[in-house]
Amino acid sequence: MTFLVHNSLTGRKEPFEPLEPERVRMYNCGPTVYSRAHIGNFRAYLFADVLRRWLEHIGMEVVQVMNITDVGHFTDDDEDGGEDKLEARARREGVDPWKISEEYTRVFFEDLERLGCLPAAVYPKATDHIAEMLEMIEGLLASGHAYERGGNVYFDVTRFDRYGRLSKNRVEDLDAGARIAVNEEKRHPADFALWKSDPHHLMKWESRFGPDGFPGWHIECSAMARKHLGDRIDIHTGGEDNVFPHHECEIAQSEAFTGEPFATYWMHTKFLQVDGGKMSKSLGNVYSIDDVVERGFEPRVLRYTLLRGHYRQPLNFTWEIMADSRKALGGLDDLVGRLRGVCDGRGAAADEGAGEELVAAAAGEFEAAMNDDLNTPRALAALFGLGAPVREGRLGARAAGASLGLFAAADAVLGIVDLGDGGPGGDPDDDAAIQALVDARREARAQRDFAEGDRLRDELLGRGILLEDTADGTVWRRR
Ligand SMILES: [Zn+2]
Repeated sequence: MTFLVHNSLTGRKEPFEPLEPERVRMYNCGPTVYSRAHIGNFRAYLFADVLRRWLEHIGMEVVQVMNITDVGHFTDDDEDGGEDKLEARARREGVDPWKISEEYTRVFFEDLERLGCLPAAVYPKATDHIAEMLEMIEGLLASGHAYERGGNVYFDVTRFDRYGRLSKNRVEDLDAGARIAVNEEKRHPADFALWKSDPHHLMKWESRFGPDGFPGWHIECSAMARKHLGDRIDIHTGGEDNVFPHHECEIAQSEAFTGEPFATYWMHTKFLQVDGGKMSKSLGNVYSIDDVVERGFEPRVLRYTLLRGHYRQPLNFTWEIMADSRKALGGLDDLVGRLRGVCDGRGAAADEGAGEELVAAAAGEFEAAMNDDLNTPRALAALFGLGAPVREGRLGARAAGASLGLFAAADAVLGIVDLGDGGPGGDPDDDAAIQALVDARREARAQRDFAEGDRLRDELLGRGILLEDTADGTVWRRR
């Protein structure tokens, strides 16, 4: 079966064909680590995770790179206005910007793990790739795609004729669209900064353009993708807000520099809405994974909620929907329990081979749905479709075994099926030893001995135990 993906560049669903057979080079625009990522951000990162897992499921080797933006991302996407997000926070709170990025990077990795995302091959940081960015900037200056004005280097959009192909913007329209006072240094209002000089910037590097420079946000991703994946890549993902200007500018820089097409497929995730509207600080509904856990939900309930909608459709989040998701997942867990029972002869159809065609159809539908541009809601429906036949005793032992196989495969891709062997309930001696460590960690934290608490958590992690601190105490499960 062919895997069809919707390519934002062409606006069509296309068969997925990597540049190299069975090897996929994928770049995901990652977080800007100036604050905690919210559940809407995680919709995009979770999509990247499921995409990677599906590619692996269909036999590809995936090299996944997700960047960490720790400098140069402005509060307004147009860098003539606004302020570097990290620096704005650092100034407001009187904290070192390096400390802020370090802290939120750590929290980001914790959240990713809690949400069950597999680690990418590399998480490159922008501040570790200044030399690679300067190399590209020099190349763009040499080829006439960029120009320098007083320590600032701009990309000249009029020198790249495919500018606007992804976002369907036209350079001549962008002229009128300049929202902020025209930057007199620029040849064209849509030109964007590759390098900026500012003696007041806290994070800055010396270059031939001056002593106090820092990169523009767009060049970071072009340089990191090239460094870790090469001049050409298969898939580039991001949120819908990344299409313009960020990804449009990435294409211009990368293709002008290498002379080759940059990414074959561009895939974009739609925003998550909360309570039917945009998330906002003033409404107090910018939720993090902590908020989800504090409300008593396991992170996998969030994972399921985010997968209930197709990534190219708007999706709404409410706590009622979360409660509903928890119930649905409970139903799925119950189904797995019943299937185990059928395998052991309980509640099974008299005929051992009964219902095999139902399971084969569900498995076929699951594959077809995922191959159709990762249609996760349809894939989930295929799994739930086995509920009625199981409850009505229409499956025999062989079909139940095959169903469990399908659930295991689905779990490897979606990461939401609790196959019932992850939590307490394994070897009783081992369970007791783990519980003792979990209790010791709770005690240490109660005594505010966080170093000891962290040490115990690491020891548990080393034994493959994941911890989840909920309002009702700490829950653990095997990895
Ligand atoms: Zn990016």
